Amino acid sequence: MTGAPRRTRRKVLRPRSVRGVKPYTPDEVYDLLEDYYGVPTRRQRLDGMSELVWTILSQHTSDVNAERAFAALSDRYETWEDVLHAPEADLAETIRSGGLANQKAPRIQQALGSVRERTGGFDISFLETMPLEEAKAWLRAMPGVGPKTAGVVLSFSMGQPAMAVDTHIYRVSKRLALIGPKVTANEAHDVLEQAIAPERVLNLHVYLITHGRRVCKAQRPLCHACPLSERCPERPRHVREDDPRVPTATLSHKPL
Ligand code: SF4
Repeated sequence: MTGAPRRTRRKVLRPRSVRGVKPYTPDEVYDLLEDYYGVPTRRQRLDGMSELVWTILSQHTSDVNAERAFAALSDRYETWEDVLHAPEADLAETIRSGGLANQKAPRIQQALGSVRERTGGFDISFLETMPLEEAKAWLRAMPGVGPKTAGVVLSFSMGQPAMAVDTHIYRVSKRLALIGPKVTANEAHDVLEQAIAPERVLNLHVYLITHGRRVCKAQRPLCHACPLSERCPERPRHVREDDPRVPTATLSHKPL
């Protein structure tokens, strides 16, 4: 017998109907959010090792702070070997602007040490052509590298169709019933990745994260302004039909 066991399949399957609403398919969500936000401009692609370090720096902080910390790191050290062997306190001081520096400094050195040990250097570009599942497993075998970090490195740096799921994407996907109600955050990476064509994975990541930050916020989602409200199963929970709040037309959205 092949394929996932029936119970597992049932758990990850997208519901066909939730409280009488037929949820959008992932492709419909993609198309509607593309119309709403426009096609995203890609940030500059980093090499794999830089992307991995950048992703660690970006944990629990804004992209601006992560970029500041990454720039400070690049100014202070010439090579990854220098970063690996730097006194931990010096490294932490250098990346202070990225927040949680005392935790991120050892995490960065562990990642560098692991890559050095497994490859003899710091070039992980071979992951670009490795089968996706193997590439994910290779990265996830490193200390402190989970599915989200692996997904970011593989999608943004390597051009692999890997989905990275953060708290925003997980929340929006659940609300829209793109994933089943029992799917965990760790499982959501693989479930969403398989729900859409490979060439759409990266932009879907960008659309969902943007939507979670700007409209489908954790506490008070702006359902009035949401282009997905017509068939969102969660909408009735957050808005009353006679709610006079926030006329949709007055809300604007910045293109990506
Ligand atoms: S309708 Fe509301 S809950 Fe549904 S995706 Fe839009 S903002 Fe989120």
